[in-house]
Amino acid sequence: MTEFWKSNAMYWCDVCKCWLNDTKAARLNHERGAGHQAKLEKKLYDMTKKAERDARAKEVNEIAMHKIEAAAKKQYEEDKKAAAAAAAAEAGQWTWDKGSGYYYNETHRWYYDPKTQWYYGGEPAPAWSQTPPLPASALFGTAPHTGGPVPLGHGPGTAPDPSGSGAAAAAPPGVFEKKTVTRAVVVPKHPASDIGGYQAPKTGRVGGGMGAGIVLEEPSAGEKRKREEAAAVKAAGAKAAAGKGGKAATISKEEAEALARREAARQRVAQRTAAGFGYL
Ligand SMILES: [Zn+2]
Repeated sequence: MTEFWKSNAMYWCDVCKCWLNDTKAARLNHERGAGHQAKLEKKLYDMTKKAERDARAKEVNEIAMHKIEAAAKKQYEEDKKAAAAAAAAEAGQWTWDKGSGYYYNETHRWYYDPKTQWYYGGEPAPAWSQTPPLPASALFGTAPHTGGPVPLGHGPGTAPDPSGSGAAAAAPPGVFEKKTVTRAVVVPKHPASDIGGYQAPKTGRVGGGMGAGIVLEEPSAGEKRKREEAAAVKAAGAKAAAGKGGKAATISKEEAEALARREAARQRVAQRTAAGFGYL
């Protein structure tokens, strides 16, 4: 007889990284040992130290991140201010010129007539224009203006009216515009509705494989015809069986019987399928 060697169950001490017999006595003995105790103590100590170190590192990190964020924010604000100042410098300012009765933009050297809302300027040969070659920020209404009358539609802060008519002025302050807001409400969907687990179909064909199955409600014209044909075949089969080969039957007795059997089998399958789907 061959003898098979079978190893004892062993236990791995994760603290000492060593194997020992997996018996209660051996484990207790090992865990009471001075070596294991010392290593366990050191391990716990290291874990505490590590947690402390991690916490401190995290704190330092957070402080550094806050400092960086604050610096970035400060820089961003400064950049924004500088950009706004640059834009303002580029746009210039429309100042009322009493002598001519027009606004004058010194930066671009163009005039603006608030009555007609036309601009007058241009370097070699100055001319009147409704679309002056000025940057959009420098147009009257966008760029600030001081002194003089304020034309309709060019209130402080409003963009210049592109149509030029000024009829579409903003509502006067204190009057709220009434708006109709339509809100689309999403009706929660049943979680199983996509896979048909929510409501089985009420129309159509159930278990239609291999020509079997049942038709729920409203059968199509083709289905109706098929069923009528099947009934006719059945009747013919019965007639042939009763007539015992008499008369001019278009199909033989064996064929009619086979057809009848097939039809019966089909009906059984349909019944079973419908029952399986819970329709009967
Ligand atoms: Zn150990």
